[in-house]
Amino acid sequence: MKRYDAIIVGGGHNGLVTAAYLARAGRSVLVLERRGLLGGCAVTEELWPGYKVSTGAYLVSLLQERIVRELELERFGYRVTPKDPSFFSVYPDGRHLFFWSDERKTLAEIAKFSARDAEAFPKYEAYLERLARLVESLLLVTPPQLPPKRAADFVDYLKLLAKFRGLGAREINGLVKIFTQSAADLLDEWFESPEIKVTLATDGVIGANGGPRSAGTAYILMHHCMGGVGGKRGLWGFVQGGMGAVSEAIAASARSHGAETRVNAAVERVVVRDGQACGVVLEGGEEIRGAVVASNLDPKLTFLKLVESKELDPEFRAAVARFRVEGTSLKINLALEGLPDFKALPGTPGPQHGATMHICPSIEYVERAWDDAKYGRPSQNPLIEMTCPTVYDPQLAPPGHHIMGIFLQYAPYTLRDATWDDLREPYGDRVLEVVAEYAPNMRDIVRERQVLSPLDLERRFGISGGNIFHGEMSLDQMFVMRPVAGWARYRTPVRGLYLCGSGAHPGGGVMGAPGFNAAREILKDF
Ligand SMILES: Cc1cc2nc3c(=O)[nH]c(=O)nc-3n(C[C@H](O)[C@H](O)[C@H](O)COP(=O)(O)OP(=O)(O)OC[C@H]3O[C@@H](n4cnc5c(N)ncnc54)[C@H](O)[C@@H]3O)c2cc1C
Repeated sequence: MKRYDAIIVGGGHNGLVTAAYLARAGRSVLVLERRGLLGGCAVTEELWPGYKVSTGAYLVSLLQERIVRELELERFGYRVTPKDPSFFSVYPDGRHLFFWSDERKTLAEIAKFSARDAEAFPKYEAYLERLARLVESLLLVTPPQLPPKRAADFVDYLKLLAKFRGLGAREINGLVKIFTQSAADLLDEWFESPEIKVTLATDGVIGANGGPRSAGTAYILMHHCMGGVGGKRGLWGFVQGGMGAVSEAIAASARSHGAETRVNAAVERVVVRDGQACGVVLEGGEEIRGAVVASNLDPKLTFLKLVESKELDPEFRAAVARFRVEGTSLKINLALEGLPDFKALPGTPGPQHGATMHICPSIEYVERAWDDAKYGRPSQNPLIEMTCPTVYDPQLAPPGHHIMGIFLQYAPYTLRDATWDDLREPYGDRVLEVVAEYAPNMRDIVRERQVLSPLDLERRFGISGGNIFHGEMSLDQMFVMRPVAGWARYRTPVRGLYLCGSGAHPGGGVMGAPGFNAAREILKDF
């Protein structure tokens, strides 16, 4: 039986990044993916003939430049087109707002709502950028051991502190606030216009189990501002060929160094002998040996499903069971025979169709949407973000047709009085009704639709609770605490078993960082 140096369980983009770095270092690597295609949440699927849909993730920004460069992703077909305008928001009174990559144009738009906010905006951006830079410097770093035990652990803490050397009171204050504040509190300090505040607040609640007034959402807002496209910070972009092209480029890079990938290969369990992971068993019984195993699955699946309970300390298992993973996001993928014609800016096509199109008029609206979810109901009036990748990449749909992705908050995984199997389609109808209030032609142009509730996200992508980040990104589940205090360094209580997915630091998003960090730690242990 062939024995690999490393087996990667799960072919999400992070698992592929780990595979690529291990293969580049000369290790024999096999990636095993449950589905018929690689990429996990970053995939392109031909849902209907001629329509190539990014069924899960739909935009990039967080993918680390270093990974793009070192894995030569452009050589393997990775191309991104910056989204410009970045946002288009519509309001019930018929007004609209654009954010552009050209700051002067954005400031003119903001001034339509508040001259004071237009003046504050560049300072706010500079402030957020300063903080984001500091936090960014931790993305490709292995969190120090908690609690520190050996001398080397104390050195790690000192190195960490050194990163913050020279910070002024304002930055330290800012950092404490950004990790603890709500997005609404942060924005209230800077802006007066409800329209401006809510447009900026959306990033704080995407994927979050909380409303804009919930503590901790300020960090999620910044998490979404940490990347960039084409060297421009904070910009998001569409990947040519859809999000699957990111994963395919990483896989091609890994294969060019000898890594093997297998699809339709669901792993049933990790084989552990004498406390050491030494392979996996696939559904169907095939056993494959590996010197180490890295799991791209979320922590709950990894430790509560793939590893037999006798191999883990009950306290550790209990901590994993407590790791919060209930998702609140829902995605609707549509095939359209045209583009939405907004009452607030009639005409198609227009610049609005190249933007993330928002329906969320005020912080209060979003907070009320969250109130529904808190009590186990999907929001009657949800926060809606719509994107049409076909505006940038017409090849994704038949001529003249479009794809639209609707990403919304809040759809709680656990419903109080219904099941998602009953509610999926009626709720899809409700969402399209809300969109049609702003763009009435949506009633006529939808040709096909796929509604992915959190339960469907769990089933389709294999993410517990349908949580798009593999687990909530709250302070108690981040950095040295992700996924469990004492086990944030990609190693696990089972020797030779590593975590390389978004359930490890620095968390979710198409970023590649957990996969990169895990590969570094695995190589150190070889
Ligand atoms: C609807 C949605 C929209 C999103 N939008 C964005 C966005 O626009 N931009 C962004 O940056 N991020 C976005 N995200 C978040 C981002 O996509 C994820 O955080 C990230 O892709 C997770 O990557 P991963 O490699 O860690 O894990 P995953 O992508 O979850 O990969 C894990 C892999 O393991 C496989 N697997 C599961 N069980 C087994 C098994 N037993 N055996 C073998 N394989 C198995 C799964 O099939 C999957 O391929 C979105 C996520 C979702 C769901």
